[in-house]
Amino acid sequence: MKSPVEQLVEQSRLVGADESLVLWGGGNNSVKTSASDLLGRTIEVMLIKSSGSDMKSIVPKQFPAVRLDYIAPLRDRQEMSDEEMVDYLARCLLDPGGPRPSIETLLHAFLPVPAVLHTHADAILAITNTRGREKTVRECFGHAMITVPYRRPGFRLSRDVAEAFDAKKSGIVLMNHGLLTWGATPMEAYERHMEVVTRAETFVWGRG
Ligand code: ZN
Repeated sequence: MKSPVEQLVEQSRLVGADESLVLWGGGNNSVKTSASDLLGRTIEVMLIKSSGSDMKSIVPKQFPAVRLDYIAPLRDRQEMSDEEMVDYLARCLLDPGGPRPSIETLLHAFLPVPAVLHTHADAILAITNTRGREKTVRECFGHAMITVPYRRPGFRLSRDVAEAFDAKKSGIVLMNHGLLTWGATPMEAYERHMEVVTRAETFVWGRG
């Protein structure tokens, strides 16, 4: 059985090899697991892709662990500037010398599921950048997907996504931005991601 970080690396290579899913440095992925803190106590953490790393060539040390007990109380906040968020997340690192976690860390951390995958897949952008937007998403996926209106990436978007989350759906379409899927393992999140993207591609081709 591969360790959580090995599973993330494996998933990253699959995603990174497909340029219709992510370009250099794009997309991010995570898995929630447990770890030992400085005093040897077991704590819940999330391994998240670091800022500026590339999925195609990523290695285990580019997935820093952030403490979920420090992140959970942020759900109660209404606002947080990008600067404040980056500073806060740096202090959530299990290893203070680790790389900076993705700017989209809270999109992952706020979802109550083990593994999350986020890309800016071409086919999803093709559907959400059209006129009609939500209607087009509905035509393509029926009621299988959650849609979240466009908002600049940041704290408020993470809150919107957390509030819209519904474990019974197949994923979340972020309008004019991308796709989020989840699973019990990174591989499950990847398989769901590909099902959604394939359906979107078929839909787009069908429309010419
Ligand atoms: Zn994004």
